[in-house]
Amino acid sequence: MNFQPSKLDDESGRRDALVRLDAQAHSSEASFDHITGLLQLILDMEMVAINFITANKQISKARQGLDEKECPRDVAFCNIAIRKYVPLVIEDTLEDARLRDNPFVTGPPHLRCYVGAPLTTAEGYNLGTICAFGTQPREFTAREIAMVEKCAELVMDQLELRSQANRDFLTELYNRRSFVAALDSELARLRRSKGTATIAFLDLDHFKHVNDTFGHPAGDRVLKQFAVIVTSHCRENDLVARLGGEEFAVLLPDTDLDAAHVWAKRMGWQVANTRFDGDNEISLTVSVGLALVDDTQTGSETITKLADNALYEAKRQGRNCVVAA
Ligand code: GH3
Ligand code: MG
Ligand code: MG
Repeated sequence: MNFQPSKLDDESGRRDALVRLDAQAHSSEASFDHITGLLQLILDMEMVAINFITANKQISKARQGLDEKECPRDVAFCNIAIRKYVPLVIEDTLEDARLRDNPFVTGPPHLRCYVGAPLTTAEGYNLGTICAFGTQPREFTAREIAMVEKCAELVMDQLELRSQANRDFLTELYNRRSFVAALDSELARLRRSKGTATIAFLDLDHFKHVNDTFGHPAGDRVLKQFAVIVTSHCRENDLVARLGGEEFAVLLPDTDLDAAHVWAKRMGWQVANTRFDGDNEISLTVSVGLALVDDTQTGSETITKLADNALYEAKRQGRNCVVAA
């Protein structure tokens, strides 16, 4: 592969790619476990992992033979491996000046060998590695190293496929499927721990007029710009989705209806005061319907119906407003 070396120094672009590909959660997923299981069989090594390097941590997405789910970035072997587009091969850590004093070498599990291939996106960002470790020095054949690289390609294919299944192509927001899944798991969480969340349904007002006047491509650009505005009003744990067309939804955990109302008003104000699509200076407003999520609700369908009704009422009241169910 031939990438601009500059991508290796573009840390903020790399972190955007981690977010876009949802590579920052520890939660285990069978497809990644299958790949580490395969690599463990191929290399016959004690430990195999798929690791992602975030701002200051290494997060283990899949593990065989080790329990550690994360460690500080600065002691992670894989943090060295993501500096190049070729695998990092360490046949004996005690012979390597970068690793000789590493706490995983001097202390448990006393690592002596390592091979890790970078997980490289199509743009050339190295998100982490798939790697194998051992407690004895060993040599790696060219064929074995090539297998590790092939496994890295499988991991990247899996990440891309997962992203395509969970995200909306135009805006790169989550899609309806992800939104419903997130709402279901939030409901389950609230049944265990009490508390409240709110969902907001957002529908752009008279959006058909934008397409009719400025054309469909301009409409697409407006939708993307709108997605950025909504996201900029959200916290890290909020989930923003495009449900379809010019309809969006936001799941706001730990937020009651009053707080969500303030949030929606502020976001709606910014939309109304933005001129969209550069020189076209398109004006736009948004209607919002809110519904509370708590442990008294029966299921996600009931809640989305409430938000839908509230949104319908906002349209009926003349648009550019927020209505709570
Ligand atoms: P209202 O205020 O009642 O919501 O009016 P509206 O015009 O926004 O609603 P309507 O449902 O009549 O029209 C939605 C428009 O959104 C029509 C459709 O062409 C447009 N649309 C849906 N998906 C896309 C898309 O992906 N790109 C673009 N450019 N337009 C889209
Ligand atoms: Mg609509
Ligand atoms: Mg609309």
